[in-house]
Amino acid sequence: MLDADTAPGEFALIAGFFSNLDQGPSVALGNGDDAALLRLSADETVAVSVDSMVEGVHFPVDSPGHLVAYRAVAAAVSDLAAMGAHPLGMTLALSLPAVDQYWLRDCREGLREASADCGLPLVGGDLVRGELSLTVQVIGAMPAALALRRSGAQVGDLVYVSGSLGDAAAGLALVQGRISSSNAAAVDVLKARFWRPQPALSLGVSLRGTATSAIDVSDGLLADLAHIASASQVQITIDSQRIPLSDALREVASPDQALDWALAGGDDYRLCFTVADTAAALPAECVMIGRVEAGSGVVCDALSSRQGFTHF
Ligand code: ADP
Ligand code: MG
Repeated sequence: MLDADTAPGEFALIAGFFSNLDQGPSVALGNGDDAALLRLSADETVAVSVDSMVEGVHFPVDSPGHLVAYRAVAAAVSDLAAMGAHPLGMTLALSLPAVDQYWLRDCREGLREASADCGLPLVGGDLVRGELSLTVQVIGAMPAALALRRSGAQVGDLVYVSGSLGDAAAGLALVQGRISSSNAAAVDVLKARFWRPQPALSLGVSLRGTATSAIDVSDGLLADLAHIASASQVQITIDSQRIPLSDALREVASPDQALDWALAGGDDYRLCFTVADTAAALPAECVMIGRVEAGSGVVCDALSSRQGFTHF
């Protein structure tokens, strides 16, 4: 059993200090979801979200600039995908310890690639001296009634994920040298899944009007589903056998480790969403992994037998 209310102190801090400053006539949805929604007109809403990546916390010290930049942008954009927004643009606040032109050129290349892949022009930002960090603010839009929120899951809905899980956690373990493998192709795939997340923007847009709730998997499947369960006041029951695991992940990890990473690893930036069980067919990459039931929290058959998850 997993409950967002007992989850990390981060959320208690946000609730305690930052949660009631979001009132205003233009606020359609304040904090607590993947992005806030600001009303432009009766028909149109702007989605805004910001995410920071700090050296030594979100990426290893001395990582290449293009990889750091790509990941920072893609991870931030994923919150637009989770809301069903189409992208408009982004800004970047960059904190640098010193001016290293080689690193900055490399960083620029990653920004250029991610900007092109995600369809968000970099329209502004800030540059300061400090520890290396990148803060990316993303802006998108959608028709007012069609935003995908965390709060709409209904008892009887089916739970879907938009692709394999656990790859990014394995990729990070490979990047950090905590695991190794002689299968170079699998290693490349998994490292790329960590460094170059592919936000599911088109899927998010296509789920407008179909998904009853959605979130992107940034903190780990169980933790992120707990946010949907809590916001929607339902229980989500997951069948661990249905969770999609990539061939590359199976190559480098034991079945137990692979499932651990898939359930709790984070950083995959897949979309996890709920739909009515009468919904029309979904794109082929979407896999049904569970159901929405009456109750609260997240239930998964693999949880009771796994010590590693008790801290949730
Ligand atoms: P995500 O993983 O989707 O990026 P987070 O877990 O970072 O979302 O944040 C959860 C929610 O809390 C979001 O709606 C976010 O906007 C909000 N939030 C986080 N930090 C703050 C803050 N300092 N002030 C106001 N809202 C915040
Ligand atoms: Mg999110």
